[in-house]
Amino acid sequence: MVNHQLFIIPFARDGQSKLPMDRHGFTFMKRSIISALLVALFSLTALAQEKKINILYTNDLHSHLEPHIVPWVSKTRQVGGFANIAARVKAEKAANPHTLYLDAGDSFAGPPVSSLTKGEAIIDAMNSLGLDAGCVGNHEFDYGWQNAIDQFKKAKFPLLNGNIFLKGTDQLHWNNPYLIRNINGVRIGIIGLHEKFAFYDTVSDEMIRGVEVRDEKVYLRKYIRELKPKTDLIILLIHLGIPGTQSTGGEKDVVRNHQHDIDLANAVPGVDLMITGHPHSGISEPVVANGTIIVSTDAYTIELGKLEISYDKRLDRITSYKNRLNYLFDDEVEDDPQMLAVIKKWNDKLMDITDRVVSNTTAPLTRSYSVESLMGNMVADAILDAFPTFDFAVTNSGGLRQDIDMGPVTVGELIAAFPFPNTITQLEMTGRDLRQIFEHGAGLTNGILQVSRGVEVVYDESRPIGQRIVKCHIKGLPLDDQRTYRVLTSNFLADGGDGFLTFKKTLFYKRTGLEIVQAMTNYLRKFNTFTPTIEGRVRKQ
Ligand code: FE
Repeated sequence: MVNHQLFIIPFARDGQSKLPMDRHGFTFMKRSIISALLVALFSLTALAQEKKINILYTNDLHSHLEPHIVPWVSKTRQVGGFANIAARVKAEKAANPHTLYLDAGDSFAGPPVSSLTKGEAIIDAMNSLGLDAGCVGNHEFDYGWQNAIDQFKKAKFPLLNGNIFLKGTDQLHWNNPYLIRNINGVRIGIIGLHEKFAFYDTVSDEMIRGVEVRDEKVYLRKYIRELKPKTDLIILLIHLGIPGTQSTGGEKDVVRNHQHDIDLANAVPGVDLMITGHPHSGISEPVVANGTIIVSTDAYTIELGKLEISYDKRLDRITSYKNRLNYLFDDEVEDDPQMLAVIKKWNDKLMDITDRVVSNTTAPLTRSYSVESLMGNMVADAILDAFPTFDFAVTNSGGLRQDIDMGPVTVGELIAAFPFPNTITQLEMTGRDLRQIFEHGAGLTNGILQVSRGVEVVYDESRPIGQRIVKCHIKGLPLDDQRTYRVLTSNFLADGGDGFLTFKKTLFYKRTGLEIVQAMTNYLRKFNTFTPTIEGRVRKQ
């Protein structure tokens, strides 16, 4: 609010002055007062037009209800968790009523509380986060498109999407493309969309059979047209781009950027602010493209973004902004008690399943996006162990979402490590097609394939994408282009997920129905003590 008190200037109410007059009949003092008044009135008008709005934002929360260790942030201090976000949001809103909290999707898929409740617990917790709106991310479809509708119905905050349709119809899967909020006298249109590429790149085919995503640019233009006459500002919440790196070290070993965000802003003018999700890489200094401010946080609740904007009603534009992206260290934030109660309720319900110990590992099972990892080796070996007559097994690095600590390995940790209901699929593929598959991995857009024992892949990152594999041996022999190999992988990859489209050329395809988490459980149960090893299976030259 503008403080009008500041502009009350002492002035003779009767307009009479006892000071000497100039030839126009004004005293010098009176003239000064008039000019001061004019300046003040001008400033008052200008300030009345200047509206400050505080926008809090997150994306890719991925069910991390609780604070956790993210090794590349701190090896000792936990970060994130819903109780910390809720506490910060409440404090910000209490301090400034002109505050919005928005989220750019991917709330499901993470710790077991998501898989075991098919997202229900996450929506329940999000109801207490203080959200003003959120958009739908690809992982909201991990447990099927019908389940997504069932869970979205339980949301008490507006969930937005305007370009995912029920297949073959003009009916939106979730009929809520945008909303309008009035904050500090500024009418704000908030649109929710999902990029078509990102959706089909990262969602398991069978989970989205009943829906189709249509070109986000077409729908963005349509909704801007509809909103423009009724709003001052337009905010887009969108999930787009290339998926986030999944590795223990958080290395930027893959080109991770927000190019799709920038391309969209350049292609479709009219968005003032874009809050984006999917690349799992926070933008500390907002990117501005074609007049659109682009912001995004890292994943897994570790950051709460805060963008303060000044909007000038007269000029009809954002005149200044300040952005902050701070880690939410658990020891710096007082947990929100209401959220703690929600989390406890769900933890208590699931404890019997999640706390079951399967094995003991002598070293932490860690992950990598660009070379073999202790986790990747274990998962691929577990898949092969389920069907040992096959030649080998592969799994995508992007599907491995959380490390497993040294010591007892619980069912909960296995689900957190692989939080998808993916099942093992049996394939028969030519050596030539497999070579292309390994090349896609070595391209590092979606991470390398983690492989089972007996596979050796060496690649040269300095060579062009598509020509990077310098060695590929299966059971000690060079991969033979002409031969047919019997391969095991997840249904997600078998259906061409993460850009591994060549899997679709398979000569044989059989779904086994055995969930990968179950295969991991069965495999690890065979070991009282499991000793993970790095064997040079996938390495850089
Ligand atoms: Fe994500």
